[in-house]
Amino acid sequence: MPARQKTAIVPGLAASATYDPGCRRCARLADFLDAVRAEHPDYWCRPVPPFGDAEARLVIVGLAPGMHGANASGRAFTGDYAGILLYETLYRHGFASAPVSTSRDDGLMLTDCRINNAVKCLPPGNKPLPAEIDACNAYLAADLMQLPAGTAVLALGRIAHDAALRALGARRSAFPFRHGERHDVAGHALFDSYHCSRYNTNTRRLTPAMFDAVFVAIVAWLAERRSVAPAARRAAGAPTR
Ligand code: SF4
Repeated sequence: MPARQKTAIVPGLAASATYDPGCRRCARLADFLDAVRAEHPDYWCRPVPPFGDAEARLVIVGLAPGMHGANASGRAFTGDYAGILLYETLYRHGFASAPVSTSRDDGLMLTDCRINNAVKCLPPGNKPLPAEIDACNAYLAADLMQLPAGTAVLALGRIAHDAALRALGARRSAFPFRHGERHDVAGHALFDSYHCSRYNTNTRRLTPAMFDAVFVAIVAWLAERRSVAPAARRAAGAPTR
């Protein structure tokens, strides 16, 4: 393990309540990022910021950046295997401008959608410790607190579900994780899906059809709230966020 390094300041990425590019609250993760950066100097190797409009009507909460995916690209789910199905599905439902996400500079834009993670730094073995999930929850809470009422929050997996509940100030025991379930929490709708990880899709614990059905439910819920779906807004020439 190399001597602890200071994370470089990134132009245009200022520290805030929702994200700090120089955060080293989790010593284990910060040291791990230092080691990965030494091996891959071209990788992002710092906390990965949320991607998309801060007032989007759909917020997706994942687990954490993948080693050679978001940790390399610096954009949530970009380069991660899980991002393949996620961005395909977002595009099909009008939340993304393209079905693939290849780099931070690929021009892809989200419409009324924001992607965040329960843990913003790459964890060894994709397994953050409970204390690390807790430490990073302050950023997620600040992010979710700024949402307008009536936002759909999609949790990818149980850890993201628990982190979203904590961030929204809700009791975990009152809202057990269940794929396909919708929970009404703090004025928002929390939707659950199995994580679209390589393991879950290869074992067909989560199929593309199952994942699509979750998005169908989200779009229907947003439509019930008299919100017009992004694809329809684009077709009508309405401005999008
Ligand atoms: S995981 Fe979150 S709290 Fe921990 S060091 Fe990274 S940004 Fe900071």
